[in-house]
Amino acid sequence: ITERALLVTRAPFQTDEELLITHDITEAERLNSTRTAFVANVSHELRTPLTVISGFLETLADTPNLPPEQTRQFIGMMQKESARMQTLLADLLTLSRLESGRSSEHTPVDLSALAQLLAEDGETLSAGKHTIRTDIASDLWINGIYTDLYNGLSNLVFNAVRYTPAGGIIEISLKALPADNLFMLLPLRFAVKDNGPGIAAEHIPRLTERFYRVDKGRSRQSGGTGLGLAIVKHALAEHDTALEISSEVGKGSEFAAVFRQIAPPAGI
Ligand code: ADP
Repeated sequence: ITERALLVTRAPFQTDEELLITHDITEAERLNSTRTAFVANVSHELRTPLTVISGFLETLADTPNLPPEQTRQFIGMMQKESARMQTLLADLLTLSRLESGRSSEHTPVDLSALAQLLAEDGETLSAGKHTIRTDIASDLWINGIYTDLYNGLSNLVFNAVRYTPAGGIIEISLKALPADNLFMLLPLRFAVKDNGPGIAAEHIPRLTERFYRVDKGRSRQSGGTGLGLAIVKHALAEHDTALEISSEVGKGSEFAAVFRQIAPPAGI
């Protein structure tokens, strides 16, 4: 909506006069159209794999003498599509839990150990196709919700692996930033950098919108649900921080967030 939406109501005023009351409903209209678009997107995303599955099921039911080779192939494709639906539903649930704001309590989280684990997950997903470098300082802690941090930040690592062609370099780092106040614990910067295709500037402000993809075909091919960065945004907001994205087409991208550090808990 580019113009403001106004609702004008008439109310009887004095004997032969009327009062015109104007309500600015721009925000309500915007929320309404976002919700409608979201439902349409979810329906579309679920319908596509379902159409594929029911198509194969129909062929299997109608063709009793299908060669075993082809049967196996069809079953494999149906398994792939149902896995896609499961991932989408898991992401939708994570997102709705994060958006509802009903999260558990913040407790000390070893961000160094979490970053290390994410790097290992990246190695597993890459299966040797990329060089994964780490620059992770040890024993750095924040207050947070471990599972939400893990579910959020893992999307940055998975995206780097999925969008960077084989042979690319991915760097996962966690460092304390220089501070201007010596009495404070230094802020921590977590970053995932790749030398993949990069993202054109016009897309960057919209990347954390639900189901926004630069290249729909490619995202689908790589198993993306289109919800990854929306999950990251909400998980970071829950930790009072935001996603910083810098990218250059042909050079690569960096996704980062700065966290408030806490002292390591005693006895650990
Ligand atoms: P998806 O499931 O499609 O990956 P995301 O919300 O995680 O959804 O990301 C949104 C879009 O941002 C992706 O479709 C892709 O176009 C782009 N993107 C995300 N990470 C990267 C990256 N590291 N390099 C290039 N493009 C990326």
